[in-house]
Amino acid sequence: MNDNKANILLVEDEENLHEPLKLNLEMEGYGVTSAYDGSEAIKAVANEYFDLIILDVMLPEMDGITVAETIRVNNNDVPILMLSAKSSSTDRVLGLKKGADDYLAKPFNLEELLLRVDKLINKNKKLQDRESIGDTYTFGHNTIDFKAQDAIAYDGKKVELSKKETMLLKLLIENKNEVVTREKILQVVWGYNVYPTTRTIDNFILNFRKYFEEDSRNPQYFHSVRGVGYKYVG
Ligand code: CA
Repeated sequence: MNDNKANILLVEDEENLHEPLKLNLEMEGYGVTSAYDGSEAIKAVANEYFDLIILDVMLPEMDGITVAETIRVNNNDVPILMLSAKSSSTDRVLGLKKGADDYLAKPFNLEELLLRVDKLINKNKKLQDRESIGDTYTFGHNTIDFKAQDAIAYDGKKVELSKKETMLLKLLIENKNEVVTREKILQVVWGYNVYPTTRTIDNFILNFRKYFEEDSRNPQYFHSVRGVGYKYVG
């Protein structure tokens, strides 16, 4: 069995669906917390950590789409699997727009639901693992100290890093071997309201190469992917 079992919030008002669903999820080894309406769901999310929310759209008073929207407004990135009797594409699009990560139309196949639940939870786990790099990180003969905002480079020189340089390094390293889009970089490093040019990010990357690459013209670690973003290869 799974020792660190995932915690799921199940939001569904119809008991004849809620109970069997809960039982099946528990049989899969998940911990399940029940909510029967929107405000109960929002309260639960504020008080407890969940790995996934299974959220029915058709709820009394506050509908599931509003619930998802409220959760996202509060900056909570918990994965949401939305359930709905409506299978029209407009609802699907609206649900996804308002923050659902996946959408399943009722009546659904239980096996399919369990597969999607598993997938969403694992995806989220991977993201979280990624977020947990330590205070220092070594690659090649370079060591970055994120807390102290400095580094010892391959040539033994100490590099003082700016706050933004440190944040960008962290973001790229956390997403090792994957392209990080310009949008993501702007959002994480510069915040939503400031728009540096692509040139600005390019200059950061050039600096990283100067600090950390033995041959900055043939970079081994810091790559730009034209028109898309940047990638750290480790
Ligand atoms: Ca319902």
